Amino acid sequence: MAFRPSLRPGAPLLRRDATHLQVGTSPGIVIPDRPGLLPFLRLLDGARDVARLEELAPARCPELVGRIRPLLLELRAAGAVVDGATLVRPRIDHEVALQHDAGSASLVGSARALLEAAGLTHLDSTEPALIVLASHGEPARSDFERATLLGIDHLPVVVDEDRVRIGPLVSPGRAPCVSCHDRHRADWDPAWPALVHQLGRASTILLPAAVSAVATHAAAGELAVEVLTHAAGGPARTTGRCLVVGPAHDARTFWPVAFHPGCSCDLLTAA
Ligand SMILES: [Zn+2]
Repeated sequence: MAFRPSLRPGAPLLRRDATHLQVGTSPGIVIPDRPGLLPFLRLLDGARDVARLEELAPARCPELVGRIRPLLLELRAAGAVVDGATLVRPRIDHEVALQHDAGSASLVGSARALLEAAGLTHLDSTEPALIVLASHGEPARSDFERATLLGIDHLPVVVDEDRVRIGPLVSPGRAPCVSCHDRHRADWDPAWPALVHQLGRASTILLPAAVSAVATHAAAGELAVEVLTHAAGGPARTTGRCLVVGPAHDARTFWPVAFHPGCSCDLLTAA
């Protein structure tokens, strides 16, 4: 693809002194000035290729002498100019399904906006490679049955009191599952199976969660990172681990989830 010169994205073009220009301020790249250089630099929008710039230069910056191509290579070597073709936002084709209930809608909505801004294209796929299952409170375990049976990767997201738990990201047969998680919990809390049985029932009193708005957005950012990592082929941080965000917006806790010897999920790939 043709080189389409662009000034450094986001960097202001400034006059440093009578004989120098400067691109950017962090810390900035200093360029010796010469007649016609400033209007020429303003032509570098990342859309025009070198041939087009050579056509435009005589009319737009008649004072500029010398050949255009070596000048551009010099500016590129200095870092003042980059190839505009590399600045185009990538389109990420990855089949994802974002599922949520009412109590997790704002978290998933924020994550959706981030993923769309990042270029992810299929967030309501009917044939997903990844299902995000968000819920307010621990969900009924039957919610995971379909994904497990079909061998679809799935990521639980639980709005839990004043924090948000993301994970474990289950790749059926290849990474520890929600049942592994429950069996480990039952090892130290014998009543856990009885409690799990009641999860997701309408009779379970569940007041609105107390996750702050900023912690919700922070969790949405972390969720978006997990989905983008999955789209890129992983490994995601929540494979074999849970990530808990909150109660403070900058509070993060990871804890591991291993295959449980009593869970048969690791036999899926052995079969
Ligand atoms: Zn398991």
